[in-house]
Amino acid sequence: MSDKSDLRYFCNEVANEGLVRGSSGNASCRVEPNRMIVTETGAWLGRDFYTPLCAIRPFRSLSDLYTPSSEAKAHAAIYEARKDVRVILHFQSPYATTMAASGRIHSDHRYGEINKEWSKHNGGESLFTDDHKMGNQRCDDFSTIPEIPYYIRSIGYIEQFITPGSDDLAKKLRLHFSRGENLVILANHGMFVVGKSYEETLQRALFFELACQIKVNTLSMGIEFTPLTNSTWIVEKEINGRK
Ligand SMILES: [Zn+2]
Repeated sequence: MSDKSDLRYFCNEVANEGLVRGSSGNASCRVEPNRMIVTETGAWLGRDFYTPLCAIRPFRSLSDLYTPSSEAKAHAAIYEARKDVRVILHFQSPYATTMAASGRIHSDHRYGEINKEWSKHNGGESLFTDDHKMGNQRCDDFSTIPEIPYYIRSIGYIEQFITPGSDDLAKKLRLHFSRGENLVILANHGMFVVGKSYEETLQRALFFELACQIKVNTLSMGIEFTPLTNSTWIVEKEINGRK
């Protein structure tokens, strides 16, 4: 398949999984070190659309016929910050967007602590890859399931609403992703998630939506979920060790 049809197939999967509604969301793929294709402005990810080619740095559209998404400059800023990223998705799934609009997100370093415990019990081996050992991960209490620290590793949060499509938003996203965060929540807006492949990016978005569904469901029941903690990891390891 060509790069363009791969991006369309990926966006159709994103829509089929319910991660976007109507014309919400946008996505891109780095096709050369300094070039990306991105969904056109107003695209419905579940339908057919054009994928104009853009230069990443300095950001500009290379297409005369079609206008890239108004958030294309944010995608370019993230590619600039992260050479390892090949696919970016901006999505607004129901549960994760509920959390993004809830004002109930508090940052902490829980995954950093989990990682310390993990290395202690695994001969110094890190749960995270090198670029996530920096200790400056801004993670929140989304650790409902092990897939969150394992697949997403580091989650960022921009707690002030910033105008979509603005230079300011592109700048803030660049800063967050340059710290090694793989998913960033934007207050009252939605999420940006990155990956080395379409599959990794989609999987991260789906696991995050599941974690948020668990959070919202437990809050609706009037309780807080039991977070995955350091001791949970150790117990799991001991059980596995006995098998
Ligand atoms: Zn947006």
